[in-house]
Amino acid sequence: MSELPVSKGVLTVVSGFSGSGKGTIIDILMKKYQEYALSVSVTTRAPRPGEEEGREYFFRTREEFEEMIRTDALIEYAEYVGNYYGTPRSYVERMLSRGKNVILEIEMQGAMKIRKRFPDAVLFFVTAPSVEELRRRLVGRNTETAEVIAGRLAQAAREANVMLDYDYLLVNETDKAEECADLLHGIIRGERARVRNNAELIRTIRDDLNKDQDPA
Ligand code: 5GP
Repeated sequence: MSELPVSKGVLTVVSGFSGSGKGTIIDILMKKYQEYALSVSVTTRAPRPGEEEGREYFFRTREEFEEMIRTDALIEYAEYVGNYYGTPRSYVERMLSRGKNVILEIEMQGAMKIRKRFPDAVLFFVTAPSVEELRRRLVGRNTETAEVIAGRLAQAAREANVMLDYDYLLVNETDKAEECADLLHGIIRGERARVRNNAELIRTIRDDLNKDQDPA
């Protein structure tokens, strides 16, 4: 009998308003479940204090980034608040073929490019339950000036319509990040069980069954 092939992982996009708690949800998901790989993006923005090369981002110059665009080394990229952000192709392809679900934590323009290029990708949008709650979380972080918070909320207002183009909405109530992570995981497990995501496995089972029917 043939080895049963590993089914391909699900390309999973997670976007959300600043203050939605998407980072916490992804952290929980990665710690709790083994079948996920988090893609590390390339960016031209400067590292923030505490950020490390290769952990939060790969930090590159604009020239280096544009070279990656030219050589098709990114599966998507976007310009966001004056900087480039992009997803390296090689890691994503390698992990998907190993059966890992790959998480892309990216903004909306990039998400919509993924939607077009990878129609089987599953797109999640994370939000706080209300705008008051979103504002409260941004203020509560105590790390940003009033001006930056107003900027983040203005950005959220611009993004609001695009929510409709996602597949799933994760409403992250206060202290419920783990529930959101579990919900996301359940949905991805469902996606993996889809017949179209298991074509190779089905072929193998069918071929092995047919072999058994051959006269010896
Ligand atoms: P930050 O500068 O705060 O780390 O990220 C700014 C925004 O860029 C966030 O919404 C983040 O999700 C998004 N982002 C991070 N990496 C990528 C990427 O590879 N592609 C795209 N399109 N957006 C990204």
